[in-house]
Amino acid sequence: MNFFVGLPTKASDFYEKGVEPVLDYLKDTVHVSAVFIQARTYYGESGYHARDEYYAFTKLRDRPSELMKKGFDILGELTDRSHERGMEVYSHFLSYDFIHPMSESAVAEQVDEHGFIQVPNAQLRNLSHVLEIDQFGRKSHRPCLLNPEYRAYHCAVVEDQLRGYPIDGVIFNTERNGPLTGVLIGSGVSTMGRKPYAGTCFCPYCLEEAHRRGIDASKAKEGFLRLLEFSERSWLAALKNKDPFAIPGMALTDIRDTSPPPEGYFVEFLRIISRFPEVLAWNQMWYDNMLSLFAEVYGTAKAVSPSRKVGFHVWHPRAFNPFMRALFNVREMRRYCDWIKPKMDHTCGGYRFYRYIQRIHQALFYDRTLEQAARAVNAVFDWDVDFNEFSRLPEQGLGLDYLEKDTRAYIAEVDDAVPIYPGIGIDMPSGPESHKYRPCEPQYVYDGLMTIAKAGARGTVLCRDLCEMQEKNMEAAGKAIAEIQRVYQYD
Ligand SMILES: [Zn+2]
Repeated sequence: MNFFVGLPTKASDFYEKGVEPVLDYLKDTVHVSAVFIQARTYYGESGYHARDEYYAFTKLRDRPSELMKKGFDILGELTDRSHERGMEVYSHFLSYDFIHPMSESAVAEQVDEHGFIQVPNAQLRNLSHVLEIDQFGRKSHRPCLLNPEYRAYHCAVVEDQLRGYPIDGVIFNTERNGPLTGVLIGSGVSTMGRKPYAGTCFCPYCLEEAHRRGIDASKAKEGFLRLLEFSERSWLAALKNKDPFAIPGMALTDIRDTSPPPEGYFVEFLRIISRFPEVLAWNQMWYDNMLSLFAEVYGTAKAVSPSRKVGFHVWHPRAFNPFMRALFNVREMRRYCDWIKPKMDHTCGGYRFYRYIQRIHQALFYDRTLEQAARAVNAVFDWDVDFNEFSRLPEQGLGLDYLEKDTRAYIAEVDDAVPIYPGIGIDMPSGPESHKYRPCEPQYVYDGLMTIAKAGARGTVLCRDLCEMQEKNMEAAGKAIAEIQRVYQYD
């Protein structure tokens, strides 16, 4: 067995340049061993022949992609030709389905000529039927992971694809925050500022599950209200200070006091979650629902064919957020996956870690300096970060020390029971489109790959999309992979 090399692609990459030339390039120059293809896109579109017979237990349906309407069935086009070249094909299942766009720039891009925000992620038919319910009884911006129709939809897609095409497996990719993080910092994406969200999910299925677990839903709701008041206090203080990191918007609570709590924000936070441990239980329930969906997806794939593989993407914010690390539990995940791809990237990692620290600083340490918050959080991770020049972290990036420590941590966490394939970025955005703090360079890619191999990774996923990657950086990846194959033995 060789060092595994996955690379995510879109149907348009192959439609525009031709299937065979692109596959030849990936094989010969980058030494890709598995092509990941977005057969089901971020926008809820299917690029393959979906068959109704698999959707008996759900009203949810993808819409056919534009290329599919032209007869370009990407799973059909790609699978045999990849196999002929000795490469595997994974269906890259992007489970997002958010209604609101995820960044301010995305909002600006998606306002139509009538001033209405277009909602590209909401293409999944009948999505509003399965949305989370927030603490105020409002339908939220994303589906509930416990909703039986939403869960059945995922299993239907996996079964449909695996029975319809001789693909080698599915890479399942979802990027969502639990409610504790949502209330404290809002969205988890790296390019936005901070605006606290209302707590979720209080739909009938989650209320029933809470009852089964013995969690008092009314206490949870009260706890989320106290926590949201706490979170809006620092957010309103930041708006008052004209802190550009605070995103303006409507306050959801009646709190108007913007002074810091007498003994500090962090002590106040501890008081609330100690008084209302139901908030923590609700947050745990949310992550359990996510992981049990992962387990169902895995079981569905194995029921179709035990030899097909299921890999899971673990999104980058987990790397920086100790609350999420604790509950997005990869030790548990090893029981229902064939491999795990934790997103790592030392080039955009500096920018992303810096933005996370800005969030957590405003939420829990706004009466302290940014550097103090950074030191407190990094005590958890122990990465090599220069706090005296912390504001330059986005330009500096995170060092190879971060890649090595996190690769080793993941391998130890799963007890080496399943392979860890760190996701190494090639030309990932390290800042807004107008200002990339640390552009990717061939040497960074080469050094990053050599570092994870040395730390024990048995493969990698080059991230995040072929269409973003510059040739010089892909060639550097190919050189590193050839060197890794030469130096290390994999069995
Ligand atoms: Zn729910």
